[in-house]
Amino acid sequence: MKSFLLYAAVSTLLLSSCQSSKASKKKETVANATEKVKTDSINTKPADNKTILARREVPVLCYHQIRNNIASDSKRAHDDIIAPDKFREHMKMLADNGYHSILPDQLYNYLVYGTKLPEKPIMITFDDTDEDQFTIGNSTLKKYGFKGVYFIMTVSIGRKGRINYMTKEQIKKLSDEGNTIASHTYDHKNFAQFTDADWTTQIDEPTKKLEQITGKKVEYFAFPYGVYKSSTLHKLKEHGFKASFILSTSRDENYPLYTIRRIIDPGRYTAKNLYYSINKSFNKTKA
Ligand SMILES: [Zn+2]
Repeated sequence: MKSFLLYAAVSTLLLSSCQSSKASKKKETVANATEKVKTDSINTKPADNKTILARREVPVLCYHQIRNNIASDSKRAHDDIIAPDKFREHMKMLADNGYHSILPDQLYNYLVYGTKLPEKPIMITFDDTDEDQFTIGNSTLKKYGFKGVYFIMTVSIGRKGRINYMTKEQIKKLSDEGNTIASHTYDHKNFAQFTDADWTTQIDEPTKKLEQITGKKVEYFAFPYGVYKSSTLHKLKEHGFKASFILSTSRDENYPLYTIRRIIDPGRYTAKNLYYSINKSFNKTKA
């Protein structure tokens, strides 16, 4: 309905610009239609938790390091490492299958207000600030017209060593190009073990730092290790977050917006594995 009204408004606008004799009447129609669209979106009541939980889940992918394995990598680390060629292949698979990347604001508006999403929506997220997410990740996403979400651990910004991390400039560039910069704490402390002081050092200060870098508000958060604690989830809203992301465990029924699920695309998956995993993990609705 909304898109029809928008279409009507736009086509009336186009008509009115080339039919000047009827201009004033047309203008009025445009104004009414635009007003209607505006009121519709403003007056929509936010959905309750039950409604949010019942909406079809949007697949969210989670990546860490995009590089080739080396002998010293532990077996556990393999889940967090995907080879560059494989990553490119997996992004191509998504594009070939008609997936459209969406960003957290779109997901939030869909979950809370039922706003329409593009066909076959998917979210592509990166954790931990590794530079290869910029060099390989971002350039591959661009090739397919995808945008990504970068959950930054602020302690590592600009750090060089065994692993290189993104610089401020790279983070700013990602933001300027329309990707979302989000928070992943200061130094990856487990959210379930936060003390009162951690709400300043692990949450407020990183938010401020990222906002200084990007010039934009930071409103989304990913839990280190995907681990959360129900009793303190309400504090994320108090500290300015609209939503937060876990890994593939179950959502909290009282805080579905703060426990949005993601799956890791591990290095051992083929593109086909990933395709099946997306459908198995997300294409269910909860009654
Ligand atoms: Zn992490």
